[in-house]
Formats: sequence, structure tokens, C-alpha cells
Amino acid sequence: MQRRTLALVAANALVGAAVVLGVAAPANAAQDSAALVTNLTYSDSGASQYASEIAQAASIWNSAAPNVRITKATAGQRVNIRIVSDPGWPQAQLGPVRSSQTLQIWFGKQAVDQGYNKVRIITHEMGHTLGLPDRRTGLCSDLMSGSSAPVSCANAQPSSAERSQVQRNYANGLAQQEAPLTVIIKDAA
Ligand SMILES: [Zn+2]
Repeated sequence: MQRRTLALVAANALVGAAVVLGVAAPANAAQDSAALVTNLTYSDSGASQYASEIAQAASIWNSAAPNVRITKATAGQRVNIRIVSDPGWPQAQLGPVRSSQTLQIWFGKQAVDQGYNKVRIITHEMGHTLGLPDRRTGLCSDLMSGSSAPVSCANAQPSSAERSQVQRNYANGLAQQEAPLTVIIKDAA
């Protein structure tokens, strides 16, 4: 009996080592695979005038939620977050986006024209694709308060609660599973 227990401990240790190396672990090892990272790509080719702000937003989320790694798609690579410019208010399809899926963000020029911070706009919309809903708290310290915060708000960093929610959304590689139907979040003043 003692010998059998030791064998199980050894097997678990091997699974843990595989996760650290970034090797996909079997589904029944999900509780040991908190280090799994979901790699996501974005395309800014439909909103190239905002390429700098979009890259900043991806960088902010990569730091804030290490369970996801968002990089610009290379030629021929599957796009998970497609960003297009749009004359209206910003919109996004609600995630958490799976690595097998493509969700869209409409980078609405109307919000830009009204003076809202462009990095905050796109980081907020990316928050939707990572599974965060709007919370119109009016607080600049909340990213998902969106346009309920003052126009002058330039904060593009998610709050600790918002970071934790995205971390939970992508814990254990959950968002690599089959995608549900998505809805579109329409932002407006
Ligand atoms: Zn929103």
C-alpha cells in the first residue's frame, strides 16, 4: 500500500513538471495545471491607425493576467481578436475568447472624437473579449467602468478585481475548451 502511494506521488510530480515546461497536461490533471497559459493573437489590420494603442493594450493585459499571452498574429496565423475601426461607439464580442475562436472589436471613432483615452478604450474592449462585462461604477480606477468614468480618465490599467476575474476565466486552460455562443457588448455614453 505504501509502495502504491509513492507511485501516485511520483506520477503527480511528473505531471507538474510537464506543466512547468508548457507541455499540455491531460484533462484529469487540470487541478495541477494552474500554470497553463492560453496564447491568443490579435489583428490590427482593420484599425492600423490605432496600432500603437492596440499593442499597448495587449501588453497591459499580458502583465495584468499572466494566464493569457496576447501577441500580434503573424501571416497565416489564426486570429483570436480582430480589431476593426468603426465610425460609431466601441463594441466588442463578449468572451472569454477561446484559442479556437475569433471575436471582434469595433474601435469606435465616436468615443475617440469625444475625447476618451484611446489606450483605455481598446484595453476596455479587450477586457470584454477576455470575458469582462461592463460595470458602470463611474470610477476611473475601474477599467470596465468605461464611459461612466470622466472623459478625462486616462487609466488603462484593470483593477485588481478585474485582473483576478480574467485570471479565473483562463485558469487551468479553461478557455481553450469549446466556445459558447457570444453576445456583442455595445458601449455608449
Ligand atoms: Zn464596455
